[in-house]
Amino acid sequence: MPTNNRTDHFTRRGFISWGARAAATLGVLGRSNAAEAVRAPSGKLDTIASDLLPIKEKIALEEHFSIPETVDSSYAAHRGADVLRLIAEIGPDRIAEMDRGGVETCIISLVAPGIQGIPSASQAINVSRHANDYLAENIAKYPKRLKGFAALPLQDPQAASQELTRCIKELGFCGALVNGFSQIGEADTAVYYDLPQYRPFWATVEQLGVPLYLHPREPLPTRRQAYEGHQWLVSSAWGLGAETSIHALRLMGSGLFDEYPKLRVILGHLGECVPFGIWRVDHRIVKTGVRPQAKLPISRYLRENFYITTSGNFRTQALTDVITEVGADRVLYSVDYPFEDMGDAAEWFDHAPIAESDRVKIAFGNARQVFRL
Ligand code: ZN
Repeated sequence: MPTNNRTDHFTRRGFISWGARAAATLGVLGRSNAAEAVRAPSGKLDTIASDLLPIKEKIALEEHFSIPETVDSSYAAHRGADVLRLIAEIGPDRIAEMDRGGVETCIISLVAPGIQGIPSASQAINVSRHANDYLAENIAKYPKRLKGFAALPLQDPQAASQELTRCIKELGFCGALVNGFSQIGEADTAVYYDLPQYRPFWATVEQLGVPLYLHPREPLPTRRQAYEGHQWLVSSAWGLGAETSIHALRLMGSGLFDEYPKLRVILGHLGECVPFGIWRVDHRIVKTGVRPQAKLPISRYLRENFYITTSGNFRTQALTDVITEVGADRVLYSVDYPFEDMGDAAEWFDHAPIAESDRVKIAFGNARQVFRL
């Protein structure tokens, strides 16, 4: 639409020269092509350049793989042959998709619900160890392009701590990705990580200095009363985000971040439902007087202990809201491959009308700092 196009071009022109300079100052101008693209023949930065080249150095961190042991119970199982083929492959096809989307590095993780959906603790321990070894073996073939997140057997917090330590210190992983609550012992259980038995695990996460990605999972079939008659709501359209938002708010409200203030948790899908609702959370806590255990306003934890990715939520209005709430320094690019398309994500992100300096930070600048890449 003409109006939108005008806004887009005006915004991008206005920030082009600043964006390149800002990135250079930050030491993150791997995007030298962009600087070249806006350089006029005179050698000065041209603020009326017609367009920027797509960013080729993106880092994406909600990207998934499968193993035979869990794929049949995973969210890939009913998504068709193409998704099953793509998610199983850690090789040239995945690298080609990354190239198509301008992604230089992917941090990949086991598809949900993964280890969290294995009620037997001993089985969860064995499968997580196998999944992490398998991932390490495969990413070693592409050391510059592929990195790993650990899958963790949170059915046993002590075993999860040990496995995370092994993955970071021996396998060189970048952190962990856990798929929401864990089923423990019985299939019909949902255990959340704000509970006291997980405090030693969180101490390990903080001590290792790595982020934990809190990835969504669906509410269990026996706990879907609000969804009855509306199967379309249960999964990624809404249920995953609602479930994960509540889990994240439980962590924030539990006092976890008062005890371990250096913890860093990552939320996907532009923060699930949290950033949009965060003002009202604090507002209603004050108004009603029903207080959580945490010492600070809930929004403080969102801004100081959380990072938010763009996975599967390619919507500029929502991105702008997230940047406004938490700042561009806490937003990270992601796709949610192969459930989402690398090209679709790039097409949106490379052209979204945001400040060029923010685009560079979100594409790769922030991730390079967070993961020391
Ligand atoms: Zn995902």
